[in-house]
Amino acid sequence: MIDLHLHSSASDGTDAPADVVRLAAAAGVTTLALTDHDTTAGWDEAAAAVPAGVRLLRGAEFSTSSPDGRGGEVSAHLLGYLFDPADPAVLADQERLRGERSRRVGVMTERLRAAGYDVDPAAIAARTGAPVGRPHVAQALVDLGAVESVPAAFETFLHKDGPYYEPKADTPIAEAIGVIRAAGGVPVWAHPWARKRGGVVEESVIVDMAALGLVGVEVDHPDHSLADRDRLRALAADLGLVVTGSSDYHGTRKTVRIAAETTAPEALDTLVARATGADVVVGGQ
Ligand code: AMP
Ligand code: FE
Ligand code: FE
Ligand code: ZN
Repeated sequence: MIDLHLHSSASDGTDAPADVVRLAAAAGVTTLALTDHDTTAGWDEAAAAVPAGVRLLRGAEFSTSSPDGRGGEVSAHLLGYLFDPADPAVLADQERLRGERSRRVGVMTERLRAAGYDVDPAAIAARTGAPVGRPHVAQALVDLGAVESVPAAFETFLHKDGPYYEPKADTPIAEAIGVIRAAGGVPVWAHPWARKRGGVVEESVIVDMAALGLVGVEVDHPDHSLADRDRLRALAADLGLVVTGSSDYHGTRKTVRIAAETTAPEALDTLVARATGADVVVGGQ
């Protein structure tokens, strides 16, 4: 089983990187990818924990902004696999985004406090340097008893159209594709049609990004409808894009299980063959 999109406590998951690897192996996963938001901080710990018979792709999920194909812009997540983590452009992009994440989470925290929700800014500031996000604010709201669960916090307090939301300045997706490719990595568009999170792109935008160097698209994702998966799969076939499927595991902050969605072995082979920035970690060697 191949699951190419998992988060650890290096970003907004709840399990340490080594535990993500162990849990994936225990669930029967033979190849996993660690894809924390805007950081490679979990790579070493995860690599050291890979057991014999398991392979690890080191990756990240880049926060980007995409034209929506209707004259506007939407948030887009771009998975990068096997890029060189020491590449200066990658380092600069991830550092800028982590700073931007801290700023916007600070703004949302202050708005909540001004409205009487006593979320603890120190709990979030304690993660300085790490990529903070709405899941951390959601957790603070749960801890306060203001809301019953992290997903519920997203539907109420933290929704994009809600009064506490503050956007972050994401990297243009075309630029991020170029940065990942130049660092020897393979860019795959994560959950492009996860509609409940906000606006999504038209097909034409995926066509444009394929022309700019996008290598794959995450078709099988828990937030994609069956009809959207069919359309995306057909589009990927037309464009020669690699089709992936992944759980987007976040530990206890989401209900999805590891390997709830999986990638075909041939798709994995194509991704690995296209990468030159980092090696696949093979356990037991
Ligand atoms: P942010 O990047 O800070 O805007 O927050 C987005 C993150 O929150 C992503 O990593 C998602 O995985 C997570 N997320 C988005 N929607 C939900 C939800 N309904 N429940 C739990 N986590 C969510
Ligand atoms: Fe996340
Ligand atoms: Fe994502
Ligand atoms: Zn993700």
